[in-house]
Amino acid sequence: MQPRRWQQAWREAVRDPRELLALLGLRELAQDVSDAAAAQFPLRVPRAFVARMRHGDPSDPLLRQVLPLDAEMRPVPGFGLDAVGDGAAKAGQGVIHKYQGRALLVATGSCAVHCRYCFRRHFPYAEETAAAGGWAAALDVIAGDPSIEEVLLSGGDPLSLATPKLAELTDALRAIPHVRRLRIHTRLPIVLPERVDAELTQWLRSLPWPVVVVVHANHANEFDTDVDTAMQALRDAGAVLLNQAVLLRGVNDSADALVALSERGLAAGVLPYYLHQLDRVAGAAHFEVDDATALSLHASLVARQSGYLVPRLVREVAGDASKRALTGVDHGRNRPPVA
Ligand code: SF4
Repeated sequence: MQPRRWQQAWREAVRDPRELLALLGLRELAQDVSDAAAAQFPLRVPRAFVARMRHGDPSDPLLRQVLPLDAEMRPVPGFGLDAVGDGAAKAGQGVIHKYQGRALLVATGSCAVHCRYCFRRHFPYAEETAAAGGWAAALDVIAGDPSIEEVLLSGGDPLSLATPKLAELTDALRAIPHVRRLRIHTRLPIVLPERVDAELTQWLRSLPWPVVVVVHANHANEFDTDVDTAMQALRDAGAVLLNQAVLLRGVNDSADALVALSERGLAAGVLPYYLHQLDRVAGAAHFEVDDATALSLHASLVARQSGYLVPRLVREVAGDASKRALTGVDHGRNRPPVA
């Protein structure tokens, strides 16, 4: 069978850091590339995403998210392999059950882009994906726990699976009466918008539950007209669109960048959901923004924007029953002024 257009674009991704730098007119940065970091977690970035990077700018916020650097190989106390306690929350092969009422499926280990700060960059995907074995472990966990009303597809990127594979799961989920919502966490509509094709939207339309698609963009420059078209197609298929971002030093750690991200997302029909403090995964320490700065940035967003454009500033803490709000706004404590 011919590969789909998105599958072809996936295969054509840039995988060589030096090719990426050459495409951007930044050959002189090659000395900063870490072959060791690239060997541990290979570079991968779709050409459509490269096209949104600024030519000749070594500080480009999209480039910084994907370029393997020496800093990743320096051990930093407090940064480990399982930053958010995924291992302890395992409920079955590729199934993570942390929060009341929700089960998260690590659907696959594949991603179209490799984000250097990824909290699952050391996840043992080879043994731990839910799609392997026809989703059997995931279906057992969900069917056996009537409190699970929401199924989250995560990864890796769940939309890296072919649509018929996703339909295999949702066809089986229809037989579980207590499932009431489906959530999909994906970066693909941002980095490879071709993924939102007619087959995918037809599948979304066919689903019997409300579907929430949580995309992941960290900077306004990640949006372009192709992304807008993909977002519109997802909305036309009935999905509710939210964005989660990670607060990253050198990428979006300014009030202007975060305001622009929320405004550009809104223009594409996506409301901000979470702004995550970095998960302390080994290799990502150089992206960390301290809490005082994060809180100050968040206060600026509250002061400058309508409330619906302000994401919740949160941290995931292993063992907690929900994401932890840094501002206390979720619990009514230390509530900042509401615009
Ligand atoms: S797309 Fe998501 S899961 Fe994949 S590398 Fe990036 S942050 Fe990690």
